[in-house]
Amino acid sequence: MITPLVMGNWKMAIDLDGVVSFKAMWSSKRLLKGVEVAIAPPVPYLALMTDLPNVSLAGQDASTQSIGARTGDVSAKMLSDFTCRYVIVGHSERRQNYAEANEQIAEKARQVQALGMTPVVCVGESASEREAGLAEDFVTRQVIDSCVGLTSDLVIAYEPVWAIGSGEAASPEIASAMHGRIKAALAESLGDIRVLYGGSVSVTNCASFSKAPEVDGLLVGGASLEAESFWQICASVGESS
Ligand code: PEP
Repeated sequence: MITPLVMGNWKMAIDLDGVVSFKAMWSSKRLLKGVEVAIAPPVPYLALMTDLPNVSLAGQDASTQSIGARTGDVSAKMLSDFTCRYVIVGHSERRQNYAEANEQIAEKARQVQALGMTPVVCVGESASEREAGLAEDFVTRQVIDSCVGLTSDLVIAYEPVWAIGSGEAASPEIASAMHGRIKAALAESLGDIRVLYGGSVSVTNCASFSKAPEVDGLLVGGASLEAESFWQICASVGESS
């Protein structure tokens, strides 16, 4: 049986005080079974996070290049040096704000795999694509084009753009249907791939996703910033597995 993965994406939404209080609160919590927990902090705080028990570290992004004159970029090697196990690539905020294309995301993911880490490739349709009935075809194309040249050491995160940070999560039925489609698209070339759901996951709705078929875990933004809510989400996934 696949162990579900719950990953917190802290984006640029936390500061040093927030990291310190998260760690203090998290360390007072019971260790969880039946769930793998990972956190993607901002890069400057990675070194502070390496001692958190039973929590894997993740990068929020990686450069397409391994070394060189790339001001502001962070290489996969740098993330690996700080014991990251996962690296998020292709988050919709990067696709939108930095016009990252599928080909570039595949290159980032290849850099991540070359260093022995697991890329978490994010995909998801906009509200207009869903309204036009194009969501499944759009996401399938994103998945195929963002995974060129990758091995099966890979996680996909389905994050509909309209659900991220909006308070309006996709229904578990929508998530299950899309996850099934994503898995089918990759089955022949890569085998069984874990697919996480992300987009307005909260303490209130997390249990419905952990029971949904084809949902192998969660990618959590806002609700991962506080240790109490993130722990409750992780516990609900672990206890139901
Ligand atoms: C995200 O940005 O990856 C995310 C899922 O955010 P939120 O949970 O806040 O919608």
